[in-house]
Amino acid sequence: MEKQATREAIAFIGLGIMGKPMAGNLLKAGYTLYIYDILPQAVEAVEKMGGIPCASPKEAASKAERVLTMLPNSPEVKEVLLGENGVLQGMRPGSIVVDMSSIDPNVSVELGKKVAEAGGFLVDAPVSGGEPKAIDGTLSFMCGGEPEVFEKVRPILETMGASVTLVGEVGSGNMTKLANQIVVALNIAAVSEALVLAAKSGVDPEKVYKAIRGGLAGSTVMDAKAPMMMERRFDPGFRIDLHVKDLNNAVQAGKAAEMDLPLTHMALDMMKRLQAEGKGKLDHSALVQYYEEREQVEIKGGKTP
Ligand code: NAD
Repeated sequence: MEKQATREAIAFIGLGIMGKPMAGNLLKAGYTLYIYDILPQAVEAVEKMGGIPCASPKEAASKAERVLTMLPNSPEVKEVLLGENGVLQGMRPGSIVVDMSSIDPNVSVELGKKVAEAGGFLVDAPVSGGEPKAIDGTLSFMCGGEPEVFEKVRPILETMGASVTLVGEVGSGNMTKLANQIVVALNIAAVSEALVLAAKSGVDPEKVYKAIRGGLAGSTVMDAKAPMMMERRFDPGFRIDLHVKDLNNAVQAGKAAEMDLPLTHMALDMMKRLQAEGKGKLDHSALVQYYEEREQVEIKGGKTP
């Protein structure tokens, strides 16, 4: 049966691990999608779901007044928006660009100004939740933008997410994402440090985990990552490479705010060391290996209930 396009057209640029299922959910909901990615196989996968391929971000942006981007980092978003054959070359007046990538908040502010100069509006709307929630359409969006602009794209974001929050002006979405990434990284580092100390001291780390998870030390991060560490499941999840990218952006944001971030620097150094050992593609729970290598101890446990 032919699918009816009942909703507005959207340009969707960046069809990777996250972008592909997010685009899929918009197509299922009846949006018409004009798609672009530098990788032909990424375009083909979404074309099979009903997306309409375009030759450039410029062409995609010329077809729709809503432009979504889901790209790796600040340089790619700058390239796609400002580059030759970029979004701003083809964007219709009054268009809303929603950048869902996790990037440096100060770059979001800079891009917001450029999009406004070109007659459009920008909302920065990074997500948390990872691929499983991108597939389920239950991501959490943290948004920065003008309230009336945000309201116009809220239904689109709600199609892909269970929680959509406007935090403040352009850049606030990515600042919120950085806050999230700092808390997650430091929590993983703390869990690693504590469980390796227990193991090195001859105390069963799994029993330590079970004993403390219901108290004040317990956390969503601990419940997600401690079992992975003990069961030696380091397939991602969220890659160390991506977390290094986010913490580097946090350091940049710290510099812009003239604030030192001592704990963030420590977690970043640990993750960079694992990256240098070729472990960047592992889940960030592999941070425990930083301690294990130093202490010559491995934490292990059975399946946790
Ligand atoms: P990805 O690398 O799988 O996908 C990015 C896509 O962008 C790729 O298909 C790539 O070909 C495309 N791309 C790169 N440069 C391009 C350009 N110049 N023009 C057009 N396309 C280009 O990354 P991902 O995992 O989908 O992550 C996207 C963003 O979401 C990142 O900022 C990431 O930090 C964030 N994020 C990821 C996760 C996760 O679990 N993977 C979770 C939350 C947030």
